[in-house]
Amino acid sequence: MANGARNSAHDHQCPWPGCPKHVSPRLWGCRFHYFKLPAEIRKRIFDARFPWSIEREDTPSMEYRAALNDAARWIAAYIADDAATHR
Ligand SMILES: [Zn+2]
Repeated sequence: MANGARNSAHDHQCPWPGCPKHVSPRLWGCRFHYFKLPAEIRKRIFDARFPWSIEREDTPSMEYRAALNDAARWIAAYIADDAATHR
């Protein structure tokens, strides 16, 4: 999490809604939220991202974007479910 890369131009914000943490471009998001994702989605993000992230930060693969979309959908469902439970 705290690896000193906070101000790097390539850092991006954790994609979890409302999470302010900035992470390395090699990571999907902060550790806490990454491990909230189902193992299957984590694996797809991991597998799809590593081939390009190290050399070409700006051109995510189709696989990576598909995995990101699935992660976003999963998070939306998770949050909706959580909100319904706690309302
Ligand atoms: Zn986060």
